[in-house]
Amino acid sequence: MSTLLLRNATLLVPGIRCEHSALLIENGLIAAVFGADDRLPAEIDSIDCGGGMVAAGFVDVHCHGFGGFDFCDGSMEAISTMAKGKLAEGVTTLLPTTLTVAPEQLKQALRSAREFAASGLPGCRIPGVHLEGPYVNPKSLGAQNPDFVRRPDLAEIDALNAIWPVKKVTYAVEIPGGNGFAAELLKRGILPSCGHSCAGYADLKPEYDAGLRDLTHYCNRMTPLHHREIGLVGSGLLLTDLRLEIICDGIHLSPDMIKLIFALKSPRYIELITDAMRASGMPDGQYDLGGLAVTVRDNAARLADGALAGSTLGMNRALRNAVKFSGLAAEQVVESSSLTQLTSLKLPGGRLAAGEPADIVVMKPDFSVAHTIVGGRILYSAK
Ligand code: FE
Repeated sequence: MSTLLLRNATLLVPGIRCEHSALLIENGLIAAVFGADDRLPAEIDSIDCGGGMVAAGFVDVHCHGFGGFDFCDGSMEAISTMAKGKLAEGVTTLLPTTLTVAPEQLKQALRSAREFAASGLPGCRIPGVHLEGPYVNPKSLGAQNPDFVRRPDLAEIDALNAIWPVKKVTYAVEIPGGNGFAAELLKRGILPSCGHSCAGYADLKPEYDAGLRDLTHYCNRMTPLHHREIGLVGSGLLLTDLRLEIICDGIHLSPDMIKLIFALKSPRYIELITDAMRASGMPDGQYDLGGLAVTVRDNAARLADGALAGSTLGMNRALRNAVKFSGLAAEQVVESSSLTQLTSLKLPGGRLAAGEPADIVVMKPDFSVAHTIVGGRILYSAK
């Protein structure tokens, strides 16, 4: 039996902050939680967290790349670099995210995820992928390549899903074939998410009524709030149970907008994402994103016309920023970094409680990651 004790920890449960606490991990699960006055088991391996924050491991449901690689490169080197590299930002579950690329390139990316899972190499869990596009609105592309935009295609989804699970699909509800797509995705256990879209409220509502509950990178590449047409931004507020992905870097959304979102929505319906591209974890410079040239300077990745093209954000920095911008305590925001995502995906975890998977991040007070634990195994420790 493998056991590990995390002691002298500040647990972010979420919703509750428990100082001077400890967690016992046994055989990949959280076996017990100890308060300040509880007697701790003796003579087992332990980590002194130094009073640092311990939270459920982060879940990044929207991430294109890391460390010089993009998931759409379709190579083992790319997916293994992402799966290992993301551990350093506290991620324990990742949905590698595709771009609007050619059909064969999508298949190759999913084959690489399948190959990685079979390899047993260390890294975060990859239960499936997020397809961002290719079924987007050509008028709301951002950094999606116009050459490969196409109509929603269930045969393509089924072919990809047969290679490796498709967990989430971002599409524009208003394009031909968009209406009715949510129901078909939900039948297959796939989360429909509206994004890269020019939809008005009337376009979204039928898909919402069919079960769509997610908006992709809220506010970015979607219709803004206007007093005569509330757009997708207004829809995200009016339909209180829509989950909003947010890129919490202070660039894609201003700090004031992030504060407003947390003031109006429960963290249960906010998902911190990175939308990171291959320059994440790399120095400033020139990079490629799905065949488009991107310049990264001062943490901002932009196309030649100045449009934002993904981020270089890490999940631990997203949480730090969310706390700073919202004015809320870490234990109030932390749900948006794991539990919301796992609930949406119908996966266990996200809570520090007995019986939950031991997917855990140990952070210092500045939100830098000290240790990342996946299934009870320490897979990353800061040097
Ligand atoms: Fe996007």
